[in-house]
Amino acid sequence: MTDPPGSGGSGTARSCIYLDHGATSWPKPPEVVDAVVTAMTTCGANPGRGAYTMALAAARLVFESRRACADLLGVPDARDVAFVSGCTEACNLMLKGLLAPGDRVVVSSMEHNAISRPLHMLALAGVRVDIVRADATGTMDASDVERAVRAHATRAVICQHASNVTGAIQPIADMADIAHENGALLLVDGAQAAGHLDVDLVALDVDAYAVSGHKGLLGPQGVGLLYLRPGLDATELLQGGTGGGSSEEESQPQGRPERYEAGTPNTPGIAGLGAAARLLLEHGAEWRADEQRLFRRLKDGLRPIPGLTVFGPASDEPCVPTLTLVSDRIDADRIAFLLDRRYGIAVRSGLHCAPWAHRTIGTLDTGAVRFGVGHGTTSDDVATAVTALSELLA
Ligand code: PLP
Repeated sequence: MTDPPGSGGSGTARSCIYLDHGATSWPKPPEVVDAVVTAMTTCGANPGRGAYTMALAAARLVFESRRACADLLGVPDARDVAFVSGCTEACNLMLKGLLAPGDRVVVSSMEHNAISRPLHMLALAGVRVDIVRADATGTMDASDVERAVRAHATRAVICQHASNVTGAIQPIADMADIAHENGALLLVDGAQAAGHLDVDLVALDVDAYAVSGHKGLLGPQGVGLLYLRPGLDATELLQGGTGGGSSEEESQPQGRPERYEAGTPNTPGIAGLGAAARLLLEHGAEWRADEQRLFRRLKDGLRPIPGLTVFGPASDEPCVPTLTLVSDRIDADRIAFLLDRRYGIAVRSGLHCAPWAHRTIGTLDTGAVRFGVGHGTTSDDVATAVTALSELLA
């Protein structure tokens, strides 16, 4: 019998029950692995840097991957999507490239360090940062954001699309309306949403959207995307070779996407991400339904365990398939350790690079254990996780 597409069948032996999809997806679909290997073996030239056959093939590979990623995110012109090293670089580029001293921003209290740390640097340089607090499930109330935006002139509203701590989905389309009605931009960290949700950036009406390639998009690590709406130009983070435009000598070419892609690109990573995007275009709806079903089963299985607090929206509320929990009996790091050593279950404890989010839900001092379901998770994985926690906390 052949494995269904993307099932992780060939060459990806599962060595554990992997429930850390919030950190990175694993195992990668075999089509993604094959695309990375093919890019390195048969198409290894430098894309956009040479007119010989293999360099043109490499450029075509990057072009086709960009088109697949743009299609997946509902972006009509693929040139509005720039390949970067990951969501961290994409967040840095959208914040540092669009904000200047004297600007004021309104930001959610659930942000990851990929937003809060660059914002801290910008605050030191004279950007005013006002934080709006989410509720105990990690969900933002758009009317709180509206009040904050109306209070003072605002250059940008900054918000994640979904939380890497509680799985909460933020009201992005409402925030876009609020931002635009008040002359502000909406800048979104989509690291936890892309791949887990059906994302249409034109319908959401965002101005910039940062994406991680290696999480829900199922691509390799070391690649991500930044979408910038047509006509919105950010100052680039890096200047350097783009393969063309050298007659302009010192000044960075201003065209898209090359303005944001100085230096030799991560062609194998981009090839893998393109293969992943094509798989998601074909099977994404079915895979998302499966992961939601399994995630609900996990949440419903964990919530009744005595002494356990599970953070995140109710199981009938929309969310991405990530939750965190704490126990009143065993601390978070010990739970993650015991799950790994006794049951072979891989989960992550601590603050998940999101101290703001943990402060919001009240777990800054204790940390929490995070479970993330994703493509490749099985019903047996979920049942084993529920049984393991019930036994550990009995
Ligand atoms: N933003 C959020 C909400 C995340 O969860 C992460 C990764 O954990 C990032 C940004 C950073 O993504 P990357 O690993 O692609 O740099």
